[in-house]
Amino acid sequence: MDEVDILFDREAVTRKVKELGQIINADYQGRDLLVVGILKGAFIFMADLVREIDLPLQLDFMDVSSYGDSTVSSGEVRIIKDLEYSIKDKDVLIVEDIVDTGLTLKYIKEILHRRGPGSIRICCLLDKPSRRKADIFPEYVGYSIPDRFVVGYGLDYAEQYRHYPAVCELKPSVYQK
Ligand code: 5GP
Repeated sequence: MDEVDILFDREAVTRKVKELGQIINADYQGRDLLVVGILKGAFIFMADLVREIDLPLQLDFMDVSSYGDSTVSSGEVRIIKDLEYSIKDKDVLIVEDIVDTGLTLKYIKEILHRRGPGSIRICCLLDKPSRRKADIFPEYVGYSIPDRFVVGYGLDYAEQYRHYPAVCELKPSVYQK
């Protein structure tokens, strides 16, 4: 574990996810939800979050990848796995691990809007507002963080660290090797 520094430990994250669940419960009272998880990063957050939501809900998943050079986000994404269900007239809650430039979610939101949902909102565990390039304002945010590279609780670096229970900062020495 000397490659990472813990930012939010498991207990803190659990409390935060509970809080988000309570707010979502209150906001969507009397409605059904379609919760859309963006793979792979959101899988742990989504699994914990939906268990705090006390409303009728369906789950679906989308997997996307950026086109071209992965170090320069173009915002244009390729759908690797699309939703299984129609979202027409549904209240869609997109669950994402982290919003950085916002370009990915802007693109996803545009695609989903064209399918005629009742509403679309975004819930992310982490937000890096200082990096934003697109006009994306998630309605539900766990933690706003500075411009640091984080791993754990679903988030990876080269597919590693997703299973760490805490949200951690990856030491730059790891990726600057
Ligand atoms: P955006 O289009 O908002 O720039 O990109 C969002 C995606 O970039 C996230 O879903 C995530 O996959 C990746 N990302 C952005 N910042 C981080 C980070 O600090 N750590 C990890 N592991 N992924 C990140």
